[in-house]
Amino acid sequence: MAKKSGVNSRTLLQRLRDTLAEDGDGQERLDHITQLVSESMETEVCSIYLRRDRQTLELCATEGLKPEAVHQTRMRVGEGLVGRVAKQASPINTENAPQTKGFRYMPETGEELFSSLLGVPIQRLGEVLGVLVVQSKDPRKFADDDIYALEVVAMVIAEMKELGAFTGEGEAMTAPHQRAHLFKGGSAQEGAAIGAVLLHDPKIIITNPIADDPDVEKKRLSAAIDQLRLNVDDLLNASRNADKEQQEVMEAYRMFANSRGWVSRLEASIDIGLSAEVAVEKEQSATRARMSRVPDPYLRERLHDLDDLSNRLLRLLTGQGRATGDKVPDNAILVASNIGPAELLEYGKNIKGLVLENGSVGSHATIIARAWAIPMVIHAENIAREALNGDEILVDGDQGIVHLRPDESIVGAFKDKIAMLAAAQQKYAAIRAERATTLDGTTIGLQMNAGLMADLPSLESSGAEGVGLFRTELQFLLRNSMPKRSDLADLYARVFSAAKGLPVNFRTLDIGSDKVLPYLRAEDEPNPAMGWRAIRVGLDKKGVMRMQLQAFIRAASGRPLRIMFPFIAQFDEFRDAKAMLDKVLHNEERLGHAIPSDVKVGAMLETPSLAFAPDQFFEMCDFISIGGNDLKQFFYAADRENERVRRRYDTLNVSFLTFIEQIAARCDLFETPVSFCGEDAGRPIEALCFVAMGLRNLSMRPASIGPVKHMLRKTNLEEARDVINAARASGEQSVRRAVVEWLKER
Ligand code: PEP
Ligand code: MG
Repeated sequence: MAKKSGVNSRTLLQRLRDTLAEDGDGQERLDHITQLVSESMETEVCSIYLRRDRQTLELCATEGLKPEAVHQTRMRVGEGLVGRVAKQASPINTENAPQTKGFRYMPETGEELFSSLLGVPIQRLGEVLGVLVVQSKDPRKFADDDIYALEVVAMVIAEMKELGAFTGEGEAMTAPHQRAHLFKGGSAQEGAAIGAVLLHDPKIIITNPIADDPDVEKKRLSAAIDQLRLNVDDLLNASRNADKEQQEVMEAYRMFANSRGWVSRLEASIDIGLSAEVAVEKEQSATRARMSRVPDPYLRERLHDLDDLSNRLLRLLTGQGRATGDKVPDNAILVASNIGPAELLEYGKNIKGLVLENGSVGSHATIIARAWAIPMVIHAENIAREALNGDEILVDGDQGIVHLRPDESIVGAFKDKIAMLAAAQQKYAAIRAERATTLDGTTIGLQMNAGLMADLPSLESSGAEGVGLFRTELQFLLRNSMPKRSDLADLYARVFSAAKGLPVNFRTLDIGSDKVLPYLRAEDEPNPAMGWRAIRVGLDKKGVMRMQLQAFIRAASGRPLRIMFPFIAQFDEFRDAKAMLDKVLHNEERLGHAIPSDVKVGAMLETPSLAFAPDQFFEMCDFISIGGNDLKQFFYAADRENERVRRRYDTLNVSFLTFIEQIAARCDLFETPVSFCGEDAGRPIEALCFVAMGLRNLSMRPASIGPVKHMLRKTNLEEARDVINAARASGEQSVRRAVVEWLKER
């Protein structure tokens, strides 16, 4: 018969505190914990499994299993019952483990003797660090009290500062946060920087997981919650003049901050002996686990609010973390798990580099980092956990690597690299006023991409001949509601003035796909990159597009205006968009606004279909800009945001280059000016090959203009074409190897 039991969590926690107060290293402490738990819960076995890396769990301490299995037995996350606890981040409680789905027999541990199993995840802020397991011989269904007690012990284990030594890769028992660390990620922006870590969301260090006196803890919690409520009220008052959405968010915050349920759950955890901080973290872990399971985006947002509120509360309780408005130190390299464009902009241009655990090359944070020309590395796995504020850090945006707490030899080599880059910059500055004319006399137009007012000074410093692409999404993305026409017109007018007569191609709003406006939300789409986006939204939501077109016209105030429509897949879309513009122009004139002295209307070629549009499209279109980022993803059917497939297909692949050649030839036939404004235009070798394929205009981020111009001015186009043609004839898939070899010889 199943035995019912229930352990007193409070007593267990008190004994745990005494154990942790004893001297001893990490291993001894884990051993003591397993002894204590198995004794208190009257189970034959208690084991601690910790994650060695993303995939693997290792038995790190046990009472009851064979001691020789410790640090030997490993399993994959998801494998066996223990692996399943880690994967699902939720407990498994079974009377008959061998008969339970997913059970894996591990003979080296001797666990075949045990029938019942209760496993709970050891997690900190939603991240599973390991699994805590008890097992017993008798069939026994563990009671809710047991589960709760084991979860509480797991919380305390998760806070043990020695834990990092077990979860590091290969260097167990070395103190974490001290050793040098190399992160291999991906490059989102070239360049090199040396500086000190500034954590966007600093890890809060909790030194007192178990409290001495619940009353004292409750008082601390209550004081912090009072302060939190005041802060939220202040925020709410400050948002009185803001838009409705922002106010709604703040109201939701206030509701949570005053929620009795939330506060009583926190107090209940304190009652059993947890400190106020750990009680908050325990709630936060539960919220995060719920968040990952909730399919409804609205509800997920609300849970996110609650999570954010817990973060604020933790900062108040511990006095740690960044307060908004803090000054950014001089040599700060921002390190974050991920960051949105608005948050990044708050730091301002003082940031010297950016390193993210997630992120993507096409995200808006990346576009901003590019505009600021700071080196940026993405996919630096676990760096936000490993780095501490103020740690020395080297960011190598060319290689996509980061050195944290580097050795001196690496610092020396890195400084040499920075000096070389600075010398190259001087070389580029010297040719700033020169044109990009090849050795055999072909001149290529080099323009820059922009999206913020802050980009415009680069027109002068880079020597760009105009703005080939002005992305207009950022002003829409950085706010909670639709911007006003007058605000947009003011901004565009400032762009006109800053450009001092140089041409600017304003692109109409390109939202959808990865750029989602909270106030203009589409239905959930299975394939947003191929969904309702860009011109498709513009033509369906005519009011928004009309408003933006009016803003362009008013900003131009009689000056020549260049507009381009994004993501045109077929002639009809261009014709309809142009007809809308004509109508708006007509109305503006009727209303007495100054009409631009000249209007040029272009299309972005971002889907292969447009290259095969009817001749009349090429006749009607004043200019074409190849959006290579999108064009490439649709040409190869490879998501530009998906690191796994993105790199598989080289831009210098014969198929893609030949396609570019055909587009250039077709535009030439109709004398339609064509340029390339995707990120590849800013890479010297790619730029050279595009030019060899017939393109005569390129638009890129400002920092690339020097290197591309330098490359073109040293190139004989005729020769380059011969090399590419020979490589194409050879049957190689990409011409890169041949071109790189030729450049080296040269
Ligand atoms: C492109 O697709 O190449 C492009 C320039 O547009 P965006 O990157 O903004 O989609
Ligand atoms: Mg695009």
